[in-house]
Order: sequence, then C-alpha cells, then structure tokens
Amino acid sequence: MKKKIRITVSVILLLVLCAGGFMGWFFYQMRDMQPMETAKISNSIFVIKGKISNMYIVKTRDGFIAFDAGDDPEKIARGCKSLSIDPSSVQAVFLTHSDGDHVDGLPAFPMARVYLSSEEIPLLKDKAHRHFLGIGHMNKLPVSDYTTLADGNAVEIGGVTVNAIGTPGHTRGSMSFRVGDSLFVGDLCIIVADQVRPMIKIFTEDTEMDSASIRKIASLTNVKRIYTAHTGHTVNIEKALAMWR
Ligand SMILES: [Zn+2]
Repeated sequence: MKKKIRITVSVILLLVLCAGGFMGWFFYQMRDMQPMETAKISNSIFVIKGKISNMYIVKTRDGFIAFDAGDDPEKIARGCKSLSIDPSSVQAVFLTHSDGDHVDGLPAFPMARVYLSSEEIPLLKDKAHRHFLGIGHMNKLPVSDYTTLADGNAVEIGGVTVNAIGTPGHTRGSMSFRVGDSLFVGDLCIIVADQVRPMIKIFTEDTEMDSASIRKIASLTNVKRIYTAHTGHTVNIEKALAMWR
C-alpha cells in the first residue's frame, strides 16, 4: 500500500515538474512579445491592442483601412471608440495572414472588405491548417467573402495606395503591406531593442523562408517605419535592418 502511494506521489510530482518546465520554456519563448498600448501614432496611423496582438488603422480621404483585425472584436471595438474611430467607417482590412490572433477581431468591422494573400487559402481550405504544438488549428477566417492578392498587387482605397508584398515563412501566405513609407509586416518578424529579428521559431512554418522575406523587405527603398503585430513599431530603420542588408 505504502509503495503504491509512493509511486502515485512520484508520478504526480513528475507531471507537475513537466508542466512547470513546459510553462517556463513557453514563457521564455514569449518574453519579447510585447504589443503596444492603443494609441494614435501619427495624424494618419493608429494602433489598437487586443489580448496579445496589435492591429493598425490608417486614415483615408473618406474613412479608414486596417492592417490585421486583432484577436478580440469587443476589445478592438473599445479601442476604436477610445480613438474616436467608427468601426463601420473601416472600408477594408488587409490581413497579413490567417492566424487566429490576426483575424478573430474581424466581426468588429462589419463594412470592411477583407484582403489576404491567395497563398494563404490552402491553410483555410485544404485541411492544411498549421497546428500549434499539435494542440489546435491556428488558421481561420470568420468571413466567407474576401479578395485575394498576389505579390506586387496594389489596391487603392480613398486616395491611399496599399502595395502587397509576399513575405512567406511565418505562414506560406504571409504578406506585408506598404503604405507610403510605412510597412505593416504582421508576424514576419519581431523588433527587440530596435532590431528586427525573425519571428519565434515555434510559431513559424519555415524559418529560412521567413529570413529570406526579411531580407526582401530590407532591400526596399524609402521605408521609414515598420509595424509588427506583437512588438510594436520602429522608426529607426537603419538600426532595425542593419544585419539584414
Ligand atoms: Zn501569426
């Protein structure tokens, strides 16, 4: 009987240790993921913080467009309200990819046309969803009507031109969007101490492809601002991209 109790206690202790080890490892991986607080960044660019990610809103001549939709429609709607932005005046949402923390906020923007890369569609339709540590699907899209984009496409909305740049790696259809000298990159990279680093490995489909995509954006001229989904933005482009040029 005593032996049985000893074995049971040992098994429980081992499980607790494993769970603790996993949590420690996971939070260590996540240490640099620090989204920005909701704010007006400039006269035409706004950032909203959801639960774990940022989405960005850009003013147009007659409304707004968004880059990603965040992870919680209620939090995103509250963020819009605090910035005096009417969510129904957001005319388009450009998705950098289809991970849940970038698309779950879409219901907050009922009037918006949704754009995403055509390369991302297999993750939504062909049962090719990515799995996080084998636990659950990461890719989804809570709308059925959307427009697909290819690398090099341009869309003009309310006097603002959005250039689509294919930046695969984090997901096969990850895309960055350029508006003037600003670049919205989603999960292409993180910014730590003002330096661009690849997205954390455990979340990325193909890290070599991701690094090649970072070199691709580093070769663009006249980019002055980079906006990420989990680590805010930088205006110090020289330092941010120095090791990628
Ligand atoms: Zn992602």
